Amino acid sequence: MTNNNSFQGVLDRLEAVNKHLNLPPAIYNRLRSPRRSLIVSLPVRMDNGEVKCFEGYRVHYNTARGPAKGGIRYHQNVTLNEIITLAALMTWKCAIVDLPFGGAKGGVACDTTKMSRDEIKRMTRRYTHEIAMFIGPESDILAPDMYTDEQIMAWIMDTYSTIKGYSVPGVVTGKPVCLGGSLGRKTATSHGLVTVLLEAVKHLGLSYKDLAVSIIGFGNVGATAADILHEKGMRIVGLADSKAAIYNAKGLDIKSVKRYKADKKSLAGFKDAEQVSLNELVGLKCDILIPAAMEGQINSKNAKNVKARIVAEGANDPTTREADAILNDKGVFVLPDILANAGGVVVSYFEWVQDIQRYFWHEDEIQKRLENIMVKAFKHVLTIAQDKKVDMRTAAMILGVGRVAEASAVRGLYP
Ligand code: GLU
Repeated sequence: MTNNNSFQGVLDRLEAVNKHLNLPPAIYNRLRSPRRSLIVSLPVRMDNGEVKCFEGYRVHYNTARGPAKGGIRYHQNVTLNEIITLAALMTWKCAIVDLPFGGAKGGVACDTTKMSRDEIKRMTRRYTHEIAMFIGPESDILAPDMYTDEQIMAWIMDTYSTIKGYSVPGVVTGKPVCLGGSLGRKTATSHGLVTVLLEAVKHLGLSYKDLAVSIIGFGNVGATAADILHEKGMRIVGLADSKAAIYNAKGLDIKSVKRYKADKKSLAGFKDAEQVSLNELVGLKCDILIPAAMEGQINSKNAKNVKARIVAEGANDPTTREADAILNDKGVFVLPDILANAGGVVVSYFEWVQDIQRYFWHEDEIQKRLENIMVKAFKHVLTIAQDKKVDMRTAAMILGVGRVAEASAVRGLYP
């Protein structure tokens, strides 16, 4: 969101990866643009009686491997360019973890912090109505992303089901469990992130006890990752939310940070820690840095100061192209978003499978299957990185883009 043409980054990375894949021009060119993009206008009655018009989007980037899949985000900086970028990343991500899905993304440009729950509900129902012909369990499955949650998924499911005349749980994942949501979905992105992070720690020969971790973003992904890593004996030394950043080299007490945040709605002013700027936090000493918030937070301004040995991307697109090159030159081991945060969509896939079968699994089974998929994907990407002597992002893209290209080639050109 710091960049109003983030899609250029996708194209640049695709071009770099094609040096390894050498795709036929027809397939390569097809992968350079989204399959379909829908723009909708959403008139919504606000609580004060006024009607406000919001702009919403849904993009199917590629569907060669299966139905389009991806979340929706509500944020004032949402643009079509950003949604196309994120839909492309979903396409590579689903292919890396070998799900039978293509990639999609959606969003509405709005500031939910200034809206009531009722206004958000009316906007969500209108958005679902306007994109209803574009989505469905066989064609495009929605999910949460930034500033969207379980309740919003429930409204989407209800609106779509009302249009159809019967319950269609499989049109959206990340729903409440009572509507066909999956156990373990809420924490899935963080669990997947920790799984690949521990694999990276093992690969680099580090002992994970007492490693120091800084996390940018204290929403669902960041806060859950902090809990799990803290339980594993790591020290969370730095945290940031959208308003403030805090640092304590001895380690933060996550429980009291959470209580403070719930009370004050921000980390600003938390005692027992130094208040720093976000750019300072990125450069402060830690072993593992986890960007888990907005795009572009590791950029050309702060990347040179990174001290971490590992950067694990919980967020989508958190590292700019320039920053990526700087981190690689410094020898930082980067776990790219399209691998590191794929746990969310993996459990979304489990949710969809359970919804279609109307048969639900135990949480242990979900965790075990999630871990297997993440470890397998990590090892596959690492082998490509070692064989081709490339960084982990390039290796992940070689795997993901390669699989999408293979499916496109086998399906062939229509007509
Ligand atoms: N929004 C999440 C992502 O970017 C999850 C998508 C999904 O579960 O479909 O990966």
